[in-house]
Amino acid sequence: MYKLPKLPYSYSALEPYIDEETMRIHHDKHHQAYVDNLNKLLEGNSKLANKPIDKLLSEIDEVPESIRQGVINNGGGHANHSFFWEIMTPPAAGSSSPVGPLKEELIKTFGSLESFKQEFSAKAMSVFGSGWAYLLKTPDGKLILKRHSFQNSPLMHGNTPILGIDLWEHAYYLKYQNRKAEYVEAWWNVINWEKVDENYTSATIR
Ligand code: MN
Repeated sequence: MYKLPKLPYSYSALEPYIDEETMRIHHDKHHQAYVDNLNKLLEGNSKLANKPIDKLLSEIDEVPESIRQGVINNGGGHANHSFFWEIMTPPAAGSSSPVGPLKEELIKTFGSLESFKQEFSAKAMSVFGSGWAYLLKTPDGKLILKRHSFQNSPLMHGNTPILGIDLWEHAYYLKYQNRKAEYVEAWWNVINWEKVDENYTSATIR
């Protein structure tokens, strides 16, 4: 059985950049639905239902074909959102940029932190329809930017998510309507860089 994780902050904690109502619906309704649907799909299959979600997705070939697409959609939705809540934090709470090994690697890969931010935002804006933009660490240790359609998880391809943004309209439409660029710009103010640093460091150890 998979469970909806608690938000690590209050629903209103990301204001004014991400509004309380969006957070309530996004977490309590959308994320909950992915969890419920995933549990329904895996009913009676305790071997799969007991796997950590990351493992369920990285070993997606072991899921029977009849339910595989459902697990990709809903298991991916569960993993993506669990990740997403963690890489955000109230605007005043965190540091404003990465430090340590991730910072060095971003500068090496993208030239500067500013150009990383620009390239990431451009990648986010280039997501057509529902999906995500991710900064990923590949198995051979490279940092790459990648679009993912729907809830397709980077874990299915052996990549480790370091930073990611939800670009489904449900993530921003109540506050930003069609102004997706404003949402992407605002989102940079609520990044939990300590957590993002940690994502990179633990991926390096693994
Ligand atoms: Mn979402």
